[in-house]
Amino acid sequence: MIQVYSAEHPAEAHIVKGILETNGIECQVRGDILFAARGEIPLSIETAPSVWIIDERRYRAARDLVGRYERANAGKEAAGPSWLCPGCGEKLEGQFTHCWQCGHARGFPKDFSME
Ligand SMILES: [Zn+2]
Repeated sequence: MIQVYSAEHPAEAHIVKGILETNGIECQVRGDILFAARGEIPLSIETAPSVWIIDERRYRAARDLVGRYERANAGKEAAGPSWLCPGCGEKLEGQFTHCWQCGHARGFPKDFSME
């Protein structure tokens, strides 16, 4: 297990997880259970969600995908319209490609593809 990403928000961690899994890299999100109790536990480095991959040999590939996500996200503050998750009805901001609630994909922009 090795950490490839530290997120500011569980939604981000789950987006990164979705990107990695779409590309065949097995991973886990840690810390979002604590985050779910926010209001009771102040958000800190210890409680911020992070993404870990199972197979450390995939680290470079995983970091490459995370880097693409970060670059794509950097200029996307005013991203498209918010959308409703087809899986659970959660309202999501335009920059998210996956529902943080149930993990349902909205569909990836082309630049997340490995090809
Ligand atoms: Zn959902």
